[in-house]
Amino acid sequence: SGRWARAEAIVNDFEEKCATPIGKLRQVADAMMVEMHAGLASEGGSKLKMLISYVDSLPKGDEKGLFYALDLGGTNFRVIRVQLGGKERGVINQEAEEVSIPPHLMVGSSFVCAALELFDFIASEVARFVTSESEEYQLPAGRQRELGFTFSFPVRQTSLASGTLIKWTKGFSIEETVNTYYPIRSHLFIEVTVGEDVVSELTKAIERQGLDLRVAALVNDTVGTLAGGRYYDNDVVAAVILGTGTNAAYVERAHAIPKWHGLLPKSGEMVINMEWGNFRSSHLPLTEYDLSLDTESLNPGEQIFEKLISGMYLGEILRRVLLSLAEEASFFGDTVPPKLMVPFILRTPHMSSMHLDTSSDLRVVASKLKDILGISNTSFKTRKMIVKLCDIIAKRGARLSAAGIFGILKKQGRDVLATEKQRTVVALDGGLFEHYTTFRKILESTLAEMLGKEAASSVIIKHANDGSGIGAALIAAAHSQYL
Ligand code: ADP
Ligand code: MG
Repeated sequence: SGRWARAEAIVNDFEEKCATPIGKLRQVADAMMVEMHAGLASEGGSKLKMLISYVDSLPKGDEKGLFYALDLGGTNFRVIRVQLGGKERGVINQEAEEVSIPPHLMVGSSFVCAALELFDFIASEVARFVTSESEEYQLPAGRQRELGFTFSFPVRQTSLASGTLIKWTKGFSIEETVNTYYPIRSHLFIEVTVGEDVVSELTKAIERQGLDLRVAALVNDTVGTLAGGRYYDNDVVAAVILGTGTNAAYVERAHAIPKWHGLLPKSGEMVINMEWGNFRSSHLPLTEYDLSLDTESLNPGEQIFEKLISGMYLGEILRRVLLSLAEEASFFGDTVPPKLMVPFILRTPHMSSMHLDTSSDLRVVASKLKDILGISNTSFKTRKMIVKLCDIIAKRGARLSAAGIFGILKKQGRDVLATEKQRTVVALDGGLFEHYTTFRKILESTLAEMLGKEAASSVIIKHANDGSGIGAALIAAAHSQYL
């Protein structure tokens, strides 16, 4: 019928615009590399912030002692304690407690949090965690507890344990002393005063709790993941997070960072937090759906790469295409299902379970449509079309992620095999990578395709489960005041 033909035309057009042939991926990877160079050359030189982490020595695996980490992610945070036993014994003990950020701390919109209240709440939870620990965790007399703080949003650091929030939202200027909103992973916003030092704010909150604890390191979660990966595997040289948002960090040669004016670190290396979610390039395959998603987002014009590949957005892109099918081709009958008009109602986990539906009648697709969108009585043909849309969106995201990783490897000169012994490990973490099997497989096969057989044999993608949490504790250990 005419409706079906129209639907097919829309889907085919979308598929064409989402296409990521290998040549395009190479252009994306090269553009990523160009931006990396520009971001390293000067502050503000690129969409890629290429933030200096001040982490110039990564854990070696021989660290010893009791360390803490605080991981502030999306809507919850975790307090972590690790007991490190040195080279032989490794991680002897690890405990974590997850706490959700209570809604009463959210002000304005439900996305906004006031920094002072948030830090006080976090500090009180840390105090509770520390005071309730058992005898075995007692530190030697006179020794201060040390903590690594994982903070999942862009901070301009001035040392390992200090940093101010980077002005993010357009329309606010640095001179303004008014509060500005900074996105944590671009969906949860924290209300801070421009120029406020994150570590000193947290330290003050910890002192208000009467706790003797030093914030030894301020660590982006990608940097934490890199450190966590390196602790277990000496060949980890980069880390990528694919969760609600996305970001990457990697090890750079210190002398290849023109904007670094400090002393060259002994190791000759520096971990760079790319903030790659903000990458954009004319080579990115953007469709009208991506453009309207961006325009209507909380941070228009920002985080374009993230909006193509991360878990926050994949389901929303699908919803937008389905809505257009409903409107333009009566895809779900004569009326547009009202729930389909609700932004972000269709989450990426829903999308992945539809995509991974292996039942012969696609009954998972049917049940998701019914439960989430209130759409029943879909034909098999319709469901199949929806799986195809999932495939198009996930494939584009996964292939672009692979191109990004290839760009990093190319920047490091690890896209080709230098010696037979060369081994390159990229630590991957985040709910999207962990749970969306199809996405993960496409990412891995695309990276192998880009590397070619020889180089691919030396590159390993490793799932760094919860690297970011323990990673900050490991960085605190590697930079302990008692070393
Ligand atoms: P965060 O990025 O907020 O720190 P995670 O790394 O745990 O947290 O990632 C959570 C995100 O992963 C979710 O927002 C969602 O987008 C994605 N995700 C979780 N489970 C699945 C799933 N089964 N399929 C696809 N995506 C998933
Ligand atoms: Mg996280």
